[in-house]
Amino acid sequence: MISKTAFKSGFVAIVGAPNVGKSTLLNQCLGEKVAITSEKPQTTRNRILGVAHLPQAQLIFLDTPGVHRAKGPLNVRIVEVALKVVESVDLVVLMTDAASPQKAAHDMILRVLRKKTLPVVLAVNKIDLVKKERLLPLMDQWQKAYPFEAIVPMSALEGTQVDDLVAEMVKLLPEGPKYYPDDSLTDMPERFIAAEMIREKVFRLTGEEIPYAVAVTVESFKERPEKGLIDIQATIHVEKETQKPIIIGKGAKMLKRIGTHAREDIERMVGCKVFLKLFVRVQKNWTRDARAIRRFGY
Ligand code: GDP
Ligand code: MG
Repeated sequence: MISKTAFKSGFVAIVGAPNVGKSTLLNQCLGEKVAITSEKPQTTRNRILGVAHLPQAQLIFLDTPGVHRAKGPLNVRIVEVALKVVESVDLVVLMTDAASPQKAAHDMILRVLRKKTLPVVLAVNKIDLVKKERLLPLMDQWQKAYPFEAIVPMSALEGTQVDDLVAEMVKLLPEGPKYYPDDSLTDMPERFIAAEMIREKVFRLTGEEIPYAVAVTVESFKERPEKGLIDIQATIHVEKETQKPIIIGKGAKMLKRIGTHAREDIERMVGCKVFLKLFVRVQKNWTRDARAIRRFGY
């Protein structure tokens, strides 16, 4: 059945003091279909922990390294480093432990979040460990502490109200394309997402004239750590000669706009500077050419 509800997609960071249950929640959200990027340590780049594939949305979870690896109490430096990732996400889930509120750590996190304009959802976890009489005043305190978009009591371990939390996340995400194919278990998804981000900009910016017969391939995706950037070369394939000038535009203005918008999205994903070079190529009737279709990954 075709749903009228727009598809949502975006980046989510789960933050909170150590041991509140972030990893447990992540496992619940990701289920079996986990797409995890390579485990090689990336100090300057965002790491994708996994993608939750829902019928109406795709949630891409980004790692917040400091908070995840912190063993002892958090300090301001750890929080600041961890929350750098927050600059590139669409939504933050702050997780707390109802049985052990760790007020100091969370005040610190809230102080950093307050400087941003991101929507924050509070997940009050481990409600299986506390009595309702204790939970209600706690939720009340949180409500006064910060303008959360929503406060969701839950138990990641027992799976209680995880659905409610996911529903809140979906509600707050922007409309966006399916960056990953449904069954993606690839260890190199960034390349694919980059292509999808470019394709989306072509649709958004060129409007009606350009039919869905546009494909994007990423020919080269090279990390240049010495320059602190990623070098990407991609091609926009169209079916007809007449479509080429629409994509390129007068004085190549359209292609530049597509490139700028796509680059900004890709930079948000990878968390570092991107140098994006775009080409436009006519591949006659590619939609009917089985080999071409395979090459484009459809
Ligand atoms: P993280 O450090 O925030 O990633 O926390 P973890 O997900 O590793 O969880 C820390 C501990 O809390 C583990 O022993 C979990 O099993 C436990 N835990 C997580 N969620 C819950 C919950 O909802 N209820 C209870 N009772 N324990 C939980
Ligand atoms: Mg963890």
